[in-house]
Amino acid sequence: MQDKTSILLVYTGGTIGMKQDPVSFDLRPFDFSQILEEMPELKKFGYRIDTYSFDPVIDSSDVDIEFWKRLTRLIEEHYDSYDGFVILHGTDTMSFSASALSFMLGDIEKPVIFTGSQLPIGMLRTDGKENLISSIEIAASKDKDGHPMVPEVCIYFESQLYRGNRTTKYTAENFRAFRSANYPVLAEAGIHIKFNTAFIRYPETWGKPLRPVYDLDPSVLIIKVIPGMKRELLDSLVSIEGIRAIVLETYGSGNAPSGKWFTDCIKKAIDRGLIVLNITQCQAGRVDMDAYSTGKSLKNIGVTGGGDCTTEAAVAKLFFLLGQYTDNKIIIDLLKKNIRGELTEV
Ligand code: ASP
Repeated sequence: MQDKTSILLVYTGGTIGMKQDPVSFDLRPFDFSQILEEMPELKKFGYRIDTYSFDPVIDSSDVDIEFWKRLTRLIEEHYDSYDGFVILHGTDTMSFSASALSFMLGDIEKPVIFTGSQLPIGMLRTDGKENLISSIEIAASKDKDGHPMVPEVCIYFESQLYRGNRTTKYTAENFRAFRSANYPVLAEAGIHIKFNTAFIRYPETWGKPLRPVYDLDPSVLIIKVIPGMKRELLDSLVSIEGIRAIVLETYGSGNAPSGKWFTDCIKKAIDRGLIVLNITQCQAGRVDMDAYSTGKSLKNIGVTGGGDCTTEAAVAKLFFLLGQYTDNKIIIDLLKKNIRGELTEV
């Protein structure tokens, strides 16, 4: 590793890298290799900041598993050459990408900080500059022993640093676009950046090589329970060929309609060999299938409780586990365990 702190800044796309055409006012991506011209203040860091831009850049609505593999490979290839990574990414699917990379990168020992903005960096009132500058500072931060302050996949947005796989995009309007309702912020940027070290994951021993995982299986369907949902529709959804797991978004602490038709449909899926993971539609709190009889009936037919996992983390975890294992029992056991900080075990 070099003496000078080094950061790899990766631009994948999204609002942050846009500039407003002075005549037409259209938003267009700017040439990211010119970022130092756009933001000369970055030179003040005194770090080596190298940039890499995806070509073409993508709106994060187009993110897919190939994109995650490409990003993971990029980090793997440059892992030993940089102290930290800052990934500029559209906000729309940032929580999915941060969740996916937390599983794909495994036990990382360096910061991977996703950030973006609600207003383009080329606009006067942009939130992108502060987000980018603080993300770089966080990615470069070390403790007194020279270890990174946050060796995790995170999202930094509007003065808060979150564990990536705990986040959800919460608003399409306000600058504080993300929330981590079930886990405390990892750092707060005010006059100083205050790290919440008690909640940051640190390796037991430092110096392990990166062992990324590239096999993902996206054979997952999300079904959101709604009042009055039609039996025939649910029945056809659970009968679709090619799915291996269903994320069942339920009410409150994991409750669903108590009618026999509903449990019969879900049981049909489980009998077909599908995994059904119960995740709450609520923004905060956890699934507890013992709390009400409507949850208990799901538990009795073999539905797995997703605890306080977000939908984004549940999807990413399933893609990851289905890509690694064929045995449902192993997958279900791991769904109940906290692997990368995504779940509070009780
Ligand atoms: N549609 C954009 C994206 O997710 C929005 C943003 O960057 O905030 O790529």
